[in-house]
Amino acid sequence: MTLATGSTIGIVGGGQLGRMLAVAAAQLGYKCHIYAPDKAPPAAEVAAYFSRSAFDDEAALARFGGEVDVATYEFENIAAGPLSALADHAPLYPPRAALEIAQDRLSEKDFITRLGGRPAPYAAVSTPDELDAAVARIGAPAILKTRRFGYDGKGQARIMDTADIGAAWEAVKGAPCVLEGFIRFDAEFSILLCRAPSGETALWDAPENVHAHGILDHSSVPAAPALRPAIAEAQALARKVADALDYVGVLTMEFFATAEGAVFNEMAPRVHNSGHWSIEGALTSQFENHVRAICGLPLGATDLVVPEVTMQNLIGEDVTRWRDILSDPAAHLHLYGKRQARPGRKMGHVTRLIGPR
Ligand code: AMP
Repeated sequence: MTLATGSTIGIVGGGQLGRMLAVAAAQLGYKCHIYAPDKAPPAAEVAAYFSRSAFDDEAALARFGGEVDVATYEFENIAAGPLSALADHAPLYPPRAALEIAQDRLSEKDFITRLGGRPAPYAAVSTPDELDAAVARIGAPAILKTRRFGYDGKGQARIMDTADIGAAWEAVKGAPCVLEGFIRFDAEFSILLCRAPSGETALWDAPENVHAHGILDHSSVPAAPALRPAIAEAQALARKVADALDYVGVLTMEFFATAEGAVFNEMAPRVHNSGHWSIEGALTSQFENHVRAICGLPLGATDLVVPEVTMQNLIGEDVTRWRDILSDPAAHLHLYGKRQARPGRKMGHVTRLIGPR
């Protein structure tokens, strides 16, 4: 079914991802309604409507569902109950099953393993004894990650040797966790895929990603040629995941490239920071194709428009350089309109297209 132009897309979450989705939706003639608990979220500044309510307010989400023609999300930490209240009133894409799997690092790794993918060695941990046993089995170094509510390196503690076990358990405050073996990777990359309700699938060139302190620092496209075999393997897995979930919208999967191939790190059932380069760098951006998919429109081509594209995040105080960045006439600057530049906060990004068009 095609959503008529002029219809309203509901977006749960009001951050920069919602902001860029709303801009892409407006270009196609749709209106956006943002749902977020914050007073003045970045997405609401560029959207037609804004509802300010908590992510766990079932009644408010049901009301919101009644006011939109289709709903999507740019934020993953919505509990199953409130989510079904929303899904009872509006078609919700990507499907709820994708969100529920990706919300929990353990079910995500189990799911990927079932489909033939390869995560880092892992073990479920919910007591100090289980942590001791998991470290004995997996070895150190390892990373203890909370199963839920972790992002940008939050909710994680490194265990370099057994002496760190106590501090790691305290750092996660006894939350249910997974322990992951430390992967000595050559590089990190992500797969960005968009699937339409018809099953039509589009893949962008896989960006190579560099993280600093657990947060994405920059992405480069295309990835180094040495990563091609791992990327091909990861793309095949991403297609399987999307088909298994009857997925609609953009799906992101993050991987480590190792000598043995692609090791799955995590997935996000949404548009992703490592795909921001596609706004100027691809014929159709991740945001536009996500809108097209959830509105039942044909997907746009995802080819690169130049041989090489880079995207640099502006984190915290980096954003104070925005005026200097603009002195490079080829820089595409995106600012998210956040007032406070707290350390670790994503404030904007810069995309550069390299080579002839
Ligand atoms: P995450 O939030 O789980 O994606 O972790 C953020 C970043 O920490 C990743 O992109 C990696 O750079 C690093 N990291 C996470 N898990 C592992 C692992 N098992 N082995 C090595 N590095 C990791």
